[in-house]
Amino acid sequence: MLEQMVSAEKEPNKSARLFARAQELIPGGVNSPVRAFRGVGGTPLFIESAQGPFITDVDGRRYIDYVGSWGPMILGHADPEIVAALQAVAAKGTSFGAPNQLEIELAEEITAAVPSIEMVRMVNSGTEATMSAIRLARGVTSRDKLIKFEGCYHGHADSLLVKAGSGVATLGLPDSPGVPASLAQHTLTVPFNDATAVEDVFKQHDDIAAVIVEPVVGNMGCVPPQEGFLQTLRVLTAQNGALLICDEVMTGFRVARGGAQALYDITPDITCLGKIIGGGLPVGAYGGSRELMRNIAPTGPIYQAGTLSGNPLAMTAGLITLRRLKDETVYAELERRSAQLCDGLSSIAADAGVKTITNRVGSMWTSFFTEAPVTNWETANRSDRELYGKFFHAMLDEGVYLAPSQFEAAFVSIAHTEEIIQQTLTAARNAFQALT
Ligand SMILES: *Cc1c(COP(=O)(O)O)cnc(C)c1O
Repeated sequence: MLEQMVSAEKEPNKSARLFARAQELIPGGVNSPVRAFRGVGGTPLFIESAQGPFITDVDGRRYIDYVGSWGPMILGHADPEIVAALQAVAAKGTSFGAPNQLEIELAEEITAAVPSIEMVRMVNSGTEATMSAIRLARGVTSRDKLIKFEGCYHGHADSLLVKAGSGVATLGLPDSPGVPASLAQHTLTVPFNDATAVEDVFKQHDDIAAVIVEPVVGNMGCVPPQEGFLQTLRVLTAQNGALLICDEVMTGFRVARGGAQALYDITPDITCLGKIIGGGLPVGAYGGSRELMRNIAPTGPIYQAGTLSGNPLAMTAGLITLRRLKDETVYAELERRSAQLCDGLSSIAADAGVKTITNRVGSMWTSFFTEAPVTNWETANRSDRELYGKFFHAMLDEGVYLAPSQFEAAFVSIAHTEEIIQQTLTAARNAFQALT
């Protein structure tokens, strides 16, 4: 027995072995860069299964999960209702390339929840949603330029991969090779929460098609908008004949049923959705007024299409998720438990003498390892990445899976019960002790 244990310890674990294999076949061993643990060091865990608030790796270790597949899993993993419905729907065919009723039902849920969306087009990812939204904005304004904010991520479309937040920041790539300079020059970047800078850009350029913004930033870590910032964007875009695109791929159905636009009371021209509306399957969507959306093919000239768009599996997972989120207690309960978690983390860090700033809006949050308030990319970037990496690994040892980068939002789901939150705080106490 002892001998067996010793030899098991000497063996590299299964995640490490799989990662070695994956690196031969898949760039960096991963299909999305931030998964590779470059931001925290070490070897990524390969996940075998997930259930409720937990994920279990291929070595049989179970963790409380605050990544939630980067946002979609607001009901927790492998929700029984979703799993059963997916099995039933899959038996009837997974994709038809023809209209189906579920597409209408999901569109009805979305338009009912988000009044600025009267008409919506389904796509397969958040990247597709923002890319298509920008094409729409450029198409209807006959202008090319965009304003985006430093540290905001809107997917990896060429025009948007400029000062684009977490994944890129973690890797230390300022921009991506392969994005033509002639295209990137149309993207003007300004600091988040700096309305004056936006005003100045509008004074210098009369050919801005749109301002695209994460109304609550998640992709440099969680950074809320300061009071009046979003309202000013609304006024400036309207005055200058530009469209306001709210990229609510992360915040939609997360910070409130109606998204950040409901929480902060603004009406964008175009809204991008993804993550939660797919309930864990690949989905994105973009929508706006009927008048605007009728510019999309086949009613209008602006082309956008998708082989698997609106497929019944994705629509089903999304529908069940959005219907369950109608329960009026859900967001209040998420708020309560998330507050408990974040307040607890702040005081545990303070007790341990570690300086952190915890930003939170509803059930999305980030603990930045820094002293000063985090309001934009520059202040986020002052965080101590190395210390975060140590905390991340200490938490992993304690059975808590946080985002493998300082510059990501973490998520609480309805499966994170009070008991789970308490277990997380106990883990954090031990982790901070290990740090100091
Ligand atoms: C995740 C995310 C995207 C990209 O969505 P994908 O489905 O990964 O392509 C775009 N915008 C925001 C705000 C996001 O959080």
